[in-house]
Amino acid sequence: MCSYNKGRGHIDMIYADNAATTKMSKTAIDTMVALMNEEWGNPSSLYSRGQKAKEALETARETVAGLIGAQPNEILFTSGGSEADNQVIRSAAELGKKKGKMHIISTAFEHHAVLHTLAKLEKEGFDVTLLDVHEDGLVVPSEVEDAIRDDTCLVTIMFANNEIGTIQPIREIGAICREKGVLFHTDAVQAIGHVPVNVVDDNIDFLSASAHKFHGPKGVGFLYAKKGIRLTNLIEGGAQERGKRAGTENVPGIVAAAAAMKEACESMDEHAKHLVAARDKIIAGLEEIPHSALNGDPIRRLPSNVNFCFEGIEGESLLLLLDQKGIQASSGSACTSGSLDPSHVLLAIGRIHDVAHGSLRLSIGEDITDAEVDEIIEAVKDVVAYLRGFSPIWRDLMAGKKEFIL
Ligand SMILES: *Cc1c(COP(=O)(O)O)cnc(C)c1O
Repeated sequence: MCSYNKGRGHIDMIYADNAATTKMSKTAIDTMVALMNEEWGNPSSLYSRGQKAKEALETARETVAGLIGAQPNEILFTSGGSEADNQVIRSAAELGKKKGKMHIISTAFEHHAVLHTLAKLEKEGFDVTLLDVHEDGLVVPSEVEDAIRDDTCLVTIMFANNEIGTIQPIREIGAICREKGVLFHTDAVQAIGHVPVNVVDDNIDFLSASAHKFHGPKGVGFLYAKKGIRLTNLIEGGAQERGKRAGTENVPGIVAAAAAMKEACESMDEHAKHLVAARDKIIAGLEEIPHSALNGDPIRRLPSNVNFCFEGIEGESLLLLLDQKGIQASSGSACTSGSLDPSHVLLAIGRIHDVAHGSLRLSIGEDITDAEVDEIIEAVKDVVAYLRGFSPIWRDLMAGKKEFIL
């Protein structure tokens, strides 16, 4: 039953892995190509070709800043979300260290760009508190408040989780940090272009973003650092980006990123309405599968995100069979590292190993059709039933030798 191939080519697969990366929009591609053809000068050059590129770069900075309520001089372009996370956390740590404040608060379900940076800082003598995330995938602001100490230099909590899509109470957490005089960073890579983000209203001191998560190019991102906060360089060299990030700027990529972000922000409401309807229909459809559960809060989640655990199956097999049926999705387990460890995010919300292994993340795109929604539901139902048919764990569960958890 699952061996049939729909005969879809690579092109007309249903792409449901937009949290991993998105297709560049036509506007972004056209912008990038135009810049590569015309404004290919070095923005540091003083002659007109360089100055044209510089103008394009600074216009992009104004666009990006305006879309999140920041000032242009508070935006620094980077090679992506990972670099922005690294630089922000390093900067806050260095500022903290100078004042003898070496405690950082974060959560157990952050992106590895944050978690691995924090692990390194721990080796350098910092004390890191990783807050629990609750079963609904949400951080509780009062628990952030309780964790803040006199020596806390940074709170870093993601805006929206990349696996389960839950949207955190960022404004409340930001307000607490402001009141306590602690710097607050949010990894907003999954949020920018998808849900409203405003650094002033949301009390944000530092933010990271990445263009390839909102239909811009890969290898381009930015950080926001509130005026007056001193950044630490990760890359030394020339005086680009106010001396805080050396290296000739990727002008075509940056300008395309700004164009993609503008487009995403302008169509956000319309897209969200369509996505939420499609998302909720998929969730309702998959909830009909016995011994399954949605991961993360059903409402406070990204419009594009569906994440389920199915008992008795392996996420990897599920993905491979869905791929054969023309659907490209992701599983929390074994995703990037090739290891068999289940997702740290699913473990953080309290899923046990066996259950966390059988996970599926669908991150749908704005252009999804009703027919594709139905196709996804049918395909997942088919594949889960098929895999359970020869799963030893499922056999034990059915025989009562093991207890169902979901
Ligand atoms: C994708 C992602 C990143 C990394 O961004 P890159 O541009 O790929 O380096 C960081 N944080 C989150 C939440 C992400 O989803």
